[in-house]
Amino acid sequence: MSDASKLGFDTLQIHAGSAPDPATGARQTPIYQTTAFVFRDADHAAKLFNLQEVGYIYSRLTNPTVAVLQERVATLEGGVGAVCCSSGHAAQIMALFPLMGPGKNVVVSTRLYGGSITQFSQTIKRFGWSASFVDFDDLGAVEAAIDDDTRAIFCESIANPGGYITDLDAIAKIADAAGLPLIVDNTTASPYLCRPIEHGATLVVHSLTKFLTGNGTVTGGCVVDSGKFDWSASDKFPSLSAPEPAYHGLTFHETFGPMAFTFHGIAIGLRDLGMTLNPQAAHYTLLGIETLSLRMQRHCENAMRLATWLQTHPAVAEVTYAGLGSSPYHDRVARICPKGASSLFTIRLKDGYDACVKLVDSLDLFSHVANLGDSRSLVIHSASTTHRQLTEEQQVAAGAGPDVVRFSVGLEDAEDLIADLDQALAKASA
Ligand SMILES: *Cc1c(COP(=O)(O)O)cnc(C)c1O
Repeated sequence: MSDASKLGFDTLQIHAGSAPDPATGARQTPIYQTTAFVFRDADHAAKLFNLQEVGYIYSRLTNPTVAVLQERVATLEGGVGAVCCSSGHAAQIMALFPLMGPGKNVVVSTRLYGGSITQFSQTIKRFGWSASFVDFDDLGAVEAAIDDDTRAIFCESIANPGGYITDLDAIAKIADAAGLPLIVDNTTASPYLCRPIEHGATLVVHSLTKFLTGNGTVTGGCVVDSGKFDWSASDKFPSLSAPEPAYHGLTFHETFGPMAFTFHGIAIGLRDLGMTLNPQAAHYTLLGIETLSLRMQRHCENAMRLATWLQTHPAVAEVTYAGLGSSPYHDRVARICPKGASSLFTIRLKDGYDACVKLVDSLDLFSHVANLGDSRSLVIHSASTTHRQLTEEQQVAAGAGPDVVRFSVGLEDAEDLIADLDQALAKASA
């Protein structure tokens, strides 16, 4: 492919990482449904295992279909490399794994996907890791939460469920001053709307499950490395800067430079944690990404139409969509996600919990599911579902209180969606 830095997003979303199949000329990326790859000879095998030559060994580590997806997402994000994983949650563990260790902590935003709040507040404790939750609009509190054992800072670019926008530049500045990597979950924005590396992110994680695949068929994740962090600047990241005992003493940063994190992710993360994306899922995601920009434009347009209509409805107390001039996050749209604020937002109903449940049950075109970023419009009452494991205080802090309903606006005709909302809101407030 021609020099990626000269090509536009619409071209790259179709071409980056792919070429006609060298064996058959197949134009679409084939699904390499194979577990293992034949070595040319014993010397070739030894070189592959020593990471002296890059090639395919076994599909838990690398696979040609998955490799195309890795390069495509890395290119769209402006990173140097990427590791695909079996889910967005797997990607979050894979991002933290080389950085953390027993007794180490990560400073995270309170405004996160519900599953991420549970993963960070409960499950990572089993590894001896911990998370400090902070309001990322309070920069002083973010700084104050960092201590000698902090190894990363984590937030979402456009945060679930309210569509709040994080001031990535300000957070990156704090991370930089503390010598820490900033990890940004860019799932809700997608690289079409926001490119966190341009705002100072070190790593970008994705749930491929959502807008990147875009049609509710895949569970997958991805970690993109900016290649810009100096892992050897302190002794905080020995897995990358010092001889790694899990790979016969190889020093990843010295050997692979800006590709250190990506090589570590494959050679150790995927090898030993095994959270691998399968080639069939990679194929579906590649198909989805070909139309990413077109879909995101329509998602944003439809979300704006619905949010504007909902804002004036008498049953509605609040609409959080950052595309609206009334949102406290509206000023950040032009700087962080200038092409639009995605299609995720919440409303608060004046009549509280019962009205929310009735609204969800009365909608017809909107599917009641725990997902987002589908071509179909989706709705969920977070407090009784995705955020159910949280205390009411955590729910409210995450923007998912009992009187809140979350929408992921799809690609249907906006008029049809508004008509559906109109009839369901009438029933909910009856
Ligand atoms: C869905 C989601 C995740 C988790 O991804 P899975 O693919 O479901 O594991 C993480 N972050 C955000 C913002 C999400 O929407």
